Amino acid sequence: MNANADPQELSKFGELAHTWWDPLGEFRTLHEINPLRLDWVDAKAGLRGRRIVDVGCGGGILSESMALRGAEVLGIDLSTKPLRVAQLHAMEAGLANVVYREVSAEALAAEAPASFDVVTCMEMLEHVPDPASVVQACATLARPGGWVFFSTINRNARAFLMAIVGAEHALRLVPKGTHEYARFIRPSELSRFARDAGLAVDEVRGMAFNPLTHRAWLTHDPSVNYLVACRRPA
Ligand code: SAH
Repeated sequence: MNANADPQELSKFGELAHTWWDPLGEFRTLHEINPLRLDWVDAKAGLRGRRIVDVGCGGGILSESMALRGAEVLGIDLSTKPLRVAQLHAMEAGLANVVYREVSAEALAAEAPASFDVVTCMEMLEHVPDPASVVQACATLARPGGWVFFSTINRNARAFLMAIVGAEHALRLVPKGTHEYARFIRPSELSRFARDAGLAVDEVRGMAFNPLTHRAWLTHDPSVNYLVACRRPA
């Protein structure tokens, strides 16, 4: 077992794996925010022809969409069932430029440092015991001049209200128990992890979501959900 993984978190995602690609299922919100984050990554890093590793890829929503834009994508996760679902879905879609592996970010970083033009790590850090170690691994995986993108949830009263009380209990946008408040990460903390890993923080953006229209958009307020773009100095 990998030291920097929580078995309960991995089995939580494993149990829901069969619903991963149901656009109205348990992962509906990931489907709904995907075009926004995909466009943001594409606009910054340019996806076509890039070598990409998607860390904590789950069932492959982001991985596949990047492959469809012409990138060579490796999706990695430590939960077996979502990876199987991802593999099957890519096969059915006839995509040859996305592959999946059950390996930790840390182990892949030791095996293949500086190998990727782009590293994405979305909605994953808040499920890991030591997020700084994953950030370091992502930095190591990126080639000099490469991009590293993270998204996670801020830790404050508003984030607790919106992401746990609102999204899990009142609106049922995500399954109950998906998130644990203590694991949320402030942008200042994530920026420090990134700098300590030798990355330069390029931009921090908030992500807003309207539960009535199911539309997501970028903001300048990272008080709940947010994205961070970093670069490994050339
Ligand atoms: N990044 C995907 C999935 C997010 S769900 C997306 O945004 O669409 C969170 C994922 O993180 C799950 O698939 C879970 O299995 C994975 N995960 C949790 N802890 C992990 C760890 N220590 N190493 C790798 N993946 C992990």
